[in-house]
Amino acid sequence: MHASGRGIAGAFQIDAELFLDSTQRRRKKEMSAPYLVDSHCHLDFPELSSDANGVIARARSAGVGHLLTISTKLTAFDGVLAMAERFENVSCSVGIHPHEAAVEPETDVERLTTLAKHPKVVAFGETGLDFYYEHSPRAEQEKSFRVHLAASREAGLPTIVHTRDADAETASILKEEMGKGAFTGVIHCFSSGLELAKQALDLGFYISISGIVTFKKAEELRETVKYVPIERLLVETDSPYLAPIPHRGKTNEPAFVTHTAAFVAELKGVTREELAVRTTENFFRLFSKATHKDVAA
Ligand SMILES: [Zn+2]
Ligand SMILES: [Zn+2]
Repeated sequence: MHASGRGIAGAFQIDAELFLDSTQRRRKKEMSAPYLVDSHCHLDFPELSSDANGVIARARSAGVGHLLTISTKLTAFDGVLAMAERFENVSCSVGIHPHEAAVEPETDVERLTTLAKHPKVVAFGETGLDFYYEHSPRAEQEKSFRVHLAASREAGLPTIVHTRDADAETASILKEEMGKGAFTGVIHCFSSGLELAKQALDLGFYISISGIVTFKKAEELRETVKYVPIERLLVETDSPYLAPIPHRGKTNEPAFVTHTAAFVAELKGVTREELAVRTTENFFRLFSKATHKDVAA
């Protein structure tokens, strides 16, 4: 009887949500929830690049708002950069994996810093020492590692360090190079001993945790996660490798970082939301050249 304008407007407001299509509704939800960053993936590898749109879309709907795709050799850098240019919420690094150190030995600091001038390049690496596979001679790995660290120092961008079965050597190179002038970085896919974590933290480094933390035998890594202060933790997939439980053995992809993050949250005794907020803050503090072009973009 008294169907006033106000009443109609009120009813309309209540129902307004119903007029949003499913994409708008999902986007609204994503924007209000804290998002995760996958700090280390290989989008240019065929397992992921063959369905890049799908990979990015699934990451977004899982709440993974930003991705850092990692360079492993300069001869393949164009493909890495292409991924970062194609998607607003993807940044990339430039560098040579220790496996490739002997294949691409001529790299110098200037070459790396020049390539890093591109706005989408936010870090150097992955570089470091892999004495487990030793695909390149140790001396070549060490030389390449030092070149990356010098580039890092010069350009003021962090370095992504890969290290396996080389804890003491990695620590001593980092310490020695730090003595020549400061730089920042992260030990990615951390699987070393607690001692290296402590030394890296002392040097101001961050520690990135992959799906390995969910594996049954990773008790030592879980102890390390408990030790590392939350303000120095990052999470990553290292996809297409190392899918976390419950996807172990399958092709990994950035969306699955949610499983690792949930696991780490439990170890740290914080909610998943807090873990997301903190690790995302950490990511943008370390990779300060990366922009917050998140799921809303
Ligand atoms: Zn690696
Ligand atoms: Zn990697």
